[in-house]
Amino acid sequence: MSVETITLGCRLNFAESETIARTAPRGEDWVVVNSCAVTAEAVRQTRQAIRRARRERPDARILVTGCAAELDPGSFATMPGVERVVGNTHKLSSLAPGDVMPPLVPAGLMHKVKSFVAVQTGCDHAVTR
Ligand code: SF4
Repeated sequence: MSVETITLGCRLNFAESETIARTAPRGEDWVVVNSCAVTAEAVRQTRQAIRRARRERPDARILVTGCAAELDPGSFATMPGVERVVGNTHKLSSLAPGDVMPPLVPAGLMHKVKSFVAVQTGCDHAVTR
């Protein structure tokens, strides 16, 4: 059982993925796809990452969060293997038990990180945050 993160986009997303993984329930198998929507290519890579996660970790539950999930949750919710789609507002507590309010400070690289696709380091995509 493990939590694996696949992060697309900016450094902020990377830090947030660590926080999500740190607060995940122990003993559960999840792949967290923390998406980016800064370009159509970023969204395409997000979908590709979800399909790959489904292939490589068929028994894991898939959480999709981040900017692409914020903008178009329905399109991700219908992808095979996706169990949960969470927009940016509730991103940090998307795997946490209800009584946990995770801090915004990242925990460091405590969990297995599968990949980080650096699209850019910042973003003017203000609508998504
Ligand atoms: S803030 Fe911008 S660069 Fe960062 S994940 Fe969201 S859309 Fe991508």
